[in-house]
Amino acid sequence: MSTETSSNVGSFYPPQRTLMGPGPSEIHPRVFSAMGRPTIGYLDPVFVEMMEELKELLRYAFQTKNALTFPVSGPGSVGMEMCFVNMVSPGDKVIVCRNGVFGGRMIENVERCGGTAIVVDDPMGKPVDPEKVREAFKTNPDVKVLAFVHAETSTGVRSDAKTLAEIAKEFGALTIVDTVTSLAGVPVLVDEWGLDAVYSGSQKCLSCTPGLSPITFSDRVVELVKARKHKVQSWFMDLNLLLGYWGETNRTYHHTAPTNALYSLHEALIMLRDEGLEASWARHQRNHKALKAGLETLGLSYLVEEQYRLPQMNAVYVMPGIDEKEVRRRLLVEMNIEIGAGLGALAGKIWRFGIMGYSCKMENVMLCLCALESVFDNMGAKIDLGAAEAAAYHAYAAHPIGPGKTIKAAA
Ligand SMILES: *Cc1c(COP(=O)(O)O)cnc(C)c1O
Repeated sequence: MSTETSSNVGSFYPPQRTLMGPGPSEIHPRVFSAMGRPTIGYLDPVFVEMMEELKELLRYAFQTKNALTFPVSGPGSVGMEMCFVNMVSPGDKVIVCRNGVFGGRMIENVERCGGTAIVVDDPMGKPVDPEKVREAFKTNPDVKVLAFVHAETSTGVRSDAKTLAEIAKEFGALTIVDTVTSLAGVPVLVDEWGLDAVYSGSQKCLSCTPGLSPITFSDRVVELVKARKHKVQSWFMDLNLLLGYWGETNRTYHHTAPTNALYSLHEALIMLRDEGLEASWARHQRNHKALKAGLETLGLSYLVEEQYRLPQMNAVYVMPGIDEKEVRRRLLVEMNIEIGAGLGALAGKIWRFGIMGYSCKMENVMLCLCALESVFDNMGAKIDLGAAEAAAYHAYAAHPIGPGKTIKAAA
């Protein structure tokens, strides 16, 4: 083995891509520039002040008063795991709803915590069926937790978090809810819906750099964790220990916070606050309507029934007779546009068009439709050139944006 690197290794300059896949989404220059600010100590009083602001901004994003609301140092998967390791003790029964890839990961988490997962299955592309969940509770009245994915990124389906949380409450169970793709793209009303443990991700509709997981816990979760008989098996994710750093008083060292990543989250959340949550939801709807008009004009049809569709994640069946991989390759390599492929049983069957956060804008939608048309046409598909962009633009014109609702360009 050589102790030197090969001579051709130099600075890394990634290409500038248009990101329209399942995340990460594009990042506003304001968020990038926040990341380049000076690194300071994780217990510096100035840093601690920023942490308090972060908690406040996250409470706004989650629409909650939960004291225990903070960003976990790790991607959305760590936020997911944090909920399970703290709330599931060996022997506990957990109902897990699986209607896509991420529900499957929740089952893994329950089992690795020594719990038993009672799986409520729904087909990929369908929302979680509340009646099946109710039945599962009836046959297993000793269930402690209900876990489900609000916005299934693998299919673009939204489940009814409010109704599912009501059912859990009826049976005296707590909820673990994945809002990685939903937060800031569609309403996530933690307090109004009575959700207990809710995690998200920095890199989807929040349009922040990847690697952080906003999370919020109700007081019911805090009581549950304090009453645990078994030690949480993960030292890093043990809420009781983390509270010493993210809690209200006597801050002590737990781990070195990813300071600069937290600056970028702070900036992304300031931008969300300035735009307004409702305006952000409306922006995702508006761009979705235009993208949908274009995709349907191309003859592509949605996997998910209209009423359950996520505006920020558009899953459509691939065009018959067209090499779906080649379409994605050309978009990426030739035009710097990333779109998502199908996962699991849907591999090769669907494309996923993400319009999340800063990626959710008119120029992306128009560019993507134009690129798709050209590629389809060149690959021999029978399409009406120019019709998709026209349909999208008509949809935009039919839903004009109100004044003061655009994202500011600079601080
Ligand atoms: C992206 C995603 C995750 C995982 O987040 P990472 O940051 O990739 O770990 C979890 N759940 C859903 C629904 C997601 O879309």
